[in-house]
Amino acid sequence: MESALDWHTARAMLEWQAEMGVDEAILATPVDRFAAEEEAKAKAEAARAQPVGQAAQRVAEPEVDPIEEAVKAAKAAQDLAGLQAAMAAYPHCPLKRGARNLVFSDGVAGAKVMLIGEAPGRDEDLQGKPFVGRAGQLLDKMLAAIDLSREDSAYITNVLPWRPPQNRDPKPEEIAMMLPFLKRHIALAKPEVIVIVGNISCQALLGKRGITRLRGKWTQAEGKPALPMFHPAYLLRNPAAKREAWSDLLEIRAKLNSLS
Ligand code: URA
Repeated sequence: MESALDWHTARAMLEWQAEMGVDEAILATPVDRFAAEEEAKAKAEAARAQPVGQAAQRVAEPEVDPIEEAVKAAKAAQDLAGLQAAMAAYPHCPLKRGARNLVFSDGVAGAKVMLIGEAPGRDEDLQGKPFVGRAGQLLDKMLAAIDLSREDSAYITNVLPWRPPQNRDPKPEEIAMMLPFLKRHIALAKPEVIVIVGNISCQALLGKRGITRLRGKWTQAEGKPALPMFHPAYLLRNPAAKREAWSDLLEIRAKLNSLS
């Protein structure tokens, strides 16, 4: 393209620009230097606001898959005490941070029947034992009605060993990362019959919810006969459902009688 300026004019303009401080050729697209400066300032401020430890941690911490880590830790446990220790050392479940205690189990390890509840509540979190609050007291009465007790003949645990804040439902990712431990728990406790207590436990062990439909029907969980039943907390709120719960308890008794 031919310039409209003659050589002398062009040189004079260039000299004038240099005198005015221009030291860079002008680009085809305009650059907003003020905006670029603001952006750089904002970035610097954000970097300063980030705690040093956090930044260092982000660099140092390699990505881990919490489920894979749980599978490895659970598999390495050779007995129930080892499993409890592995769960206590597992750092990836966010529920752990808000809980006072790990709630592992109660009752007779090796009992024919293993009951699997959902997650600890306030009382369980305080005492470090499953089902010790109001729902637990009802559960004990229900067990006694079919001649079972945690002292002699039943083993009790939960899907999650830490209390969710404000007793909210556990999140799917929390269940997923603790499931390898539950599976190992079942393998090491070797029950002959599993009682799946409540909807969250159905979700974890059967991959489906709908306790009203599922309860009272024998199914399989981890290769064992398993019976879903209403959670005692639900029975406290809906006493009319105790009729169905009684029928489920009789089912459990009949199954245990058939095994002995
Ligand atoms: N509800 C549960 O599912 N588990 C407990 O341990 C207590 C209440």
